[in-house]
Amino acid sequence: MRILFLSDIHGNYVALKAVLKAASDLGYDKIFCLGDLVGYGPKPEECVSEIRSLPHLTCIMGNHDAAVSGFISIESFNQDAQDSVHWVVNHLSEESLIYLDHLPDLLVENGCTITHGSPRNPIWEYILDSYTARMNFEFFETQFCFVGHSHQPIVFRYGLEDGILPSWYIPINGEEFDYGNERVIMNPGSVGQPRDRDPRASFGIFDVDKTIWTVHRVDYNIEKVQKEIMESGLPERNALRLVDGW
Ligand code: ZN
Repeated sequence: MRILFLSDIHGNYVALKAVLKAASDLGYDKIFCLGDLVGYGPKPEECVSEIRSLPHLTCIMGNHDAAVSGFISIESFNQDAQDSVHWVVNHLSEESLIYLDHLPDLLVENGCTITHGSPRNPIWEYILDSYTARMNFEFFETQFCFVGHSHQPIVFRYGLEDGILPSWYIPINGEEFDYGNERVIMNPGSVGQPRDRDPRASFGIFDVDKTIWTVHRVDYNIEKVQKEIMESGLPERNALRLVDGW
């Protein structure tokens, strides 16, 4: 069983299509989408429709999905994110808003806990460091946990000795990791707005039987998306940051 992991698509339909093409060349059996289908990017309706149409797909709610569907308040969002939320609400169909509103915030499937932020705080918490990762290992029971939200591909391996913080590392494009019996938290990075200084779209494939995790990066037409953002009335920064991968 090979599971394709998508996260933080953020209305970037060009990147989503590039990822789906690359992933289908690699082969997968089902898809876990870790949330934030919308926000920042120019094609939220296309992204939600595409995700809804894909077979064998399980989707989790992200903070942006929760914000546009009115599930949470956007007071704590930065100004660009708030402006994007208002824009998205006006560019989504009723059906898509209802779909986002009904997404779960955490699920366990195929021996994997999947959520957007963290098992401890599914919508909001970022797992960016070993200490936060360590705290979160107490909040899920499966061997593997997958999160998004930070837009950075990263892996945390649970320390084998008490008091030792989990080790972490940044996966390289195409590199295979076999976790054997270890407990691990993995982030596939962001499809539509990478923030690890690599502008290429990011996704992961997890082979459940072989316990092998691989993060992949794929080029997409960034200029086209930037043009779409500039023409849409969304904040200019949403376009500029794509080229920096930040
Ligand atoms: Zn996000």
